Amino acid sequence: MKTIGMLGGMSWESTASYYRAINDGVKQALGGLHSARIVMYSVDFDEIEKLQHADDWDATAVILCDAARRIEVGGADFLVICTNTMHRVAPQIEAALHIPLLHIADATARKLREDGIERVGLLGTRFTMEQDFYKARLSDNFGIDVRIPEPAQRDLVHRVIYDELCLGHIDDRSRERYVEIIEQLGEQGAQAVILGCTEIALLVQQEHTAVPLYDTTAIHASQAVAMAVAQD
Ligand code: GLU
Repeated sequence: MKTIGMLGGMSWESTASYYRAINDGVKQALGGLHSARIVMYSVDFDEIEKLQHADDWDATAVILCDAARRIEVGGADFLVICTNTMHRVAPQIEAALHIPLLHIADATARKLREDGIERVGLLGTRFTMEQDFYKARLSDNFGIDVRIPEPAQRDLVHRVIYDELCLGHIDDRSRERYVEIIEQLGEQGAQAVILGCTEIALLVQQEHTAVPLYDTTAIHASQAVAMAVAQD
């Protein structure tokens, strides 16, 4: 079994979901007392969040490249960055490493294509919804048509992520707003909605809506497990 490198802490609430999902997946794949081989580095999210909102992505890249190198030196065979947003600096991180990166957008796109989905809604931070590093990867490399909510809805989704979910607050009213937005995307033609922020599944699960949901945390973790247990 390969050793999974986890670059976490963004936020630690979702890194905990990854840790559980990866270990559950290895247990399911190998049985008995098997658990995942993991090298994890968990950053202090406060400094990352301040740099994101100051638009200083280069400074976040310096912190994350340093963390990723420590993970590689620790013996990881490949890396997962446990956040969608920070894939904004994935090219810099990849360039700093010798081990491969399992990109969260590629993992999600593969699953969507497998299920025959070509038109999706995307929820995530404003950075993920509005900038090109994520959407363009889905459309240019996988031919997936990505739609995002209206500006006021994007503000709401973003605010709930940072002010509630990353702090571990789960609020019923916020869930209702998210479900309204998801269903509106469905009415506008999205065949499914990507939960493109690793904390969203803490708030909204498939039981809350008939629109098919693609949880990036679960998908990314499951493909990390497949990669770890695959025979070379
Ligand atoms: N975990 C979130 C994501 O998947 C947001 C936190 C962050 O900015 O990294 O985008």
